Amino acid sequence: GSTFLRPVETRIFTIANQKGGVGKTTTAVNIAAALATGGLNVLVIDNDPQGNASTALGLEHHAGTPSIYDVIINDTALGDVIQPAEDIPGLYGAPATIDLSGAEIELVSMVARENRLRNAIRDHVEKRESEGLPRFDYIIIDCPPSLGLLTINAFVAAREVIIPIQCEYYALEGLSQLLKNIDLIRGHLNPDLHVSTILLTMFDKRTNLAREVAAEVRQHFPRETLDATIPRSVRISEAPSYGQTVLTYDAGSTGALAYLEAAKEIAERATTTTGQPAAAEKEN
Ligand code: ADP
Ligand code: MG
Repeated sequence: GSTFLRPVETRIFTIANQKGGVGKTTTAVNIAAALATGGLNVLVIDNDPQGNASTALGLEHHAGTPSIYDVIINDTALGDVIQPAEDIPGLYGAPATIDLSGAEIELVSMVARENRLRNAIRDHVEKRESEGLPRFDYIIIDCPPSLGLLTINAFVAAREVIIPIQCEYYALEGLSQLLKNIDLIRGHLNPDLHVSTILLTMFDKRTNLAREVAAEVRQHFPRETLDATIPRSVRISEAPSYGQTVLTYDAGSTGALAYLEAAKEIAERATTTTGQPAAAEKEN
């Protein structure tokens, strides 16, 4: 298949948008699957108690499965909850179980409560390095829509934010509040955090409205907005019920190709890459 540029350091993204149903989870799992299809090692962290990313990636996530809850609350090592995801080599997931719905409250009284996911990721990256294991090129964190302590943990753990924007009425509503919140996190908890990527989703180029929303987003965020857009596609919405991303469910569909294009752009935008396609490096 295609071969994407490998970043010199793990790039850690969180997917953010305070609205539900705008395509956060769909974007998290399909961008991850597309990057892995391009030859990279990718980990999706499901940080939403609803566990939709876990479902879409075909991860075990019934109650009691070692999960991101154990990592955040019980100091379980991240490596102990990671599972291979569906059948794409290089794609892994850390699942969310129903336990995670209690974590928001449990976190309130914990020490360094905003830093728990960041520390777990850092420990894992260091451990893999010391053991000579291949590192993750990308870690993508899927979040609930609310700005609670789970989402704050993701903002502290990540360096880059992807905002999916649905090309419909009120698409930009709430966006300035989201950007303010990201500024607050940057000021107080994570100076490296920035919105690197905006992805237009559920885009129907035949409607004036979608084109207008897209133009407005590009005007406000000319550098951040990817050229690739994700069309509204039945195949994309069907895939999770088979425990698959659209990359395996229907690899030739317009949705799969759109996510591949978007992932390729993201890979090419890495400020620091080895300049080597992933497949070429793997042979070393
Ligand atoms: P969020 O995580 O922001 O709540 P989801 O990713 O779960 O949003 O998407 C909300 C719904 O929209 C889901 O049913 C999903 O399958 C569907 N969906 C997402 N992206 C697309 C798309 N490009 N085309 C069609 N349906 C989509
Ligand atoms: Mg979701």
